[in-house]
Amino acid sequence: MNYQVFARKYRPRDFDSVVGQEHITRTLKNAIEQNRLAHAYLFVGPRGVGKTSTARILAKALNCVKGPTVMPCGECDSCREIARGTSLDVLEIDGASNNGVEQVRELRENVRFAPAHGKFKIYIIDEVHMLSSAAFNALLKTLEEPPAHVKFIFATTEPQKVLPTILSRCQRFDLRRIPAALIAAHLLFIAREEKITLDERAAHAVARGAEGGLRDAESMLDQLVAFCGDKIAEEDVLSIFGFTAEQTVSRLCERILDGASSKALAILHEQSEAGKDLSRLMTDLILHLRDLLILKADPGAGDFTESARAQAARIALDRLLELIEQFAAAESRMKWAPNKKLHFEVAVIKAIQTLGQATLTEVIDALARLRTGEAPPPRQPAAAPIPVPIPIPIPLVSDDPPPPPPLPKKAAVQDDALWPAILEAVRERRKFILSWVEAGVFLGIEGNACLLGFPKTQSLALESLTRASNRVFLEDLLSEIAGRPLTLRCEVREDLLEQALVEKKEDLPLDPVEALKNDPLIRKALEIFKGEIQSA
Ligand SMILES: [Zn+2]
Repeated sequence: MNYQVFARKYRPRDFDSVVGQEHITRTLKNAIEQNRLAHAYLFVGPRGVGKTSTARILAKALNCVKGPTVMPCGECDSCREIARGTSLDVLEIDGASNNGVEQVRELRENVRFAPAHGKFKIYIIDEVHMLSSAAFNALLKTLEEPPAHVKFIFATTEPQKVLPTILSRCQRFDLRRIPAALIAAHLLFIAREEKITLDERAAHAVARGAEGGLRDAESMLDQLVAFCGDKIAEEDVLSIFGFTAEQTVSRLCERILDGASSKALAILHEQSEAGKDLSRLMTDLILHLRDLLILKADPGAGDFTESARAQAARIALDRLLELIEQFAAAESRMKWAPNKKLHFEVAVIKAIQTLGQATLTEVIDALARLRTGEAPPPRQPAAAPIPVPIPIPIPLVSDDPPPPPPLPKKAAVQDDALWPAILEAVRERRKFILSWVEAGVFLGIEGNACLLGFPKTQSLALESLTRASNRVFLEDLLSEIAGRPLTLRCEVREDLLEQALVEKKEDLPLDPVEALKNDPLIRKALEIFKGEIQSA
């Protein structure tokens, strides 16, 4: 019996068995059902995600004896010839292998003849961006006025290299990287069919390593079977491909979030001594952080471990983004560096520092609160216990401040009375933002938005007000006092002078950062904690 690689043996036979591209197969099925077929399709996506498989299924769907049908029978001559690659009506051209001039010339000569058996003559051109420009031009002529019986299906990994004149004549579909969980499930399916004992964790390790490419995952499974026979455990995957155990990556991330630099570095050393590829570990760490990012965006997202969920809850979104950027930069530095470990260590320590630093935003808010004695707002959901001393500590106020007096319930106010009421409420409830609010000029209500204009010199006040916590506070306040939902729209207005500011009764300085820097209490705090106000 001749051995067939899994990617070939388990190639999807119909639209429904294409893994992870439902958004595309659904659209194609609809088009077939409604008989709204385009002349040319372009499948775009990274390698190994199903572009040519989908192209062949579409070809079968069109040329099956029962076709066009969303369910090609797979049994008729046409279906079988297409599957074997011997159909006279379906021609596959590989743009990468020979730049295609000859084949495209042939194509041009044959394109006007009717199909031999099927309903359509279908040209599948893979890596179409690699065609030489001569071939491209030849193709374009045909593409401009294709005979009714001709369909083109192009595939490319680099759509930006495809001539715009070709792009504009195609219906484009973007295939995406396949989620690791779907790849793992598919590998486990193959294992069951093949009577291979594939450990679930091993399947997940392969899936993570394949980074969204199903074909890569399948060929890794081929190799595993060649090396290990019919019993495959996670350790086999890790040692054969040099991947890192998910637990190791998660542990490393945990130590970084803890700010435990020596423990984090110990993991690096342990991995390095075990002969693991540190670049791979870095990639895995970035992928892990990306998972946390997905969880930040959608905490209910499936297929994540409990520890990943817990980690996502510990880190603020902007910090997470910073970390990913830092590690991605370190990853590219590591590529060419002779001492990868050093770069990795530096990146870990930097990350821990980043997590420990308060941002300018936090410092300003904290200082402003210090000044007015307002209680700090609840921190980000279970913020990471921060190991490195923060330049400025937040709670210097009494533990239990009296709650702000609730506003008496009153009828919704008219627009012109709204602003004074808002200012009054801000003074009562969140005094530290009052100078910023007053720096703006109330321009009125437009639809559901309260417009606040700022002279150019007050853009810092604008920025401060539009930070999420302040914006939410103000929008709640606006809605409460206006008696209907209102949003806040702040904009810099060139036409606004400082006139509104001149007559301020309060003697608060206008630039909040300067104000804070000069505040005696804050100077004291900076002195005590050896902190300084840095720009973000
Ligand atoms: Zn058929």
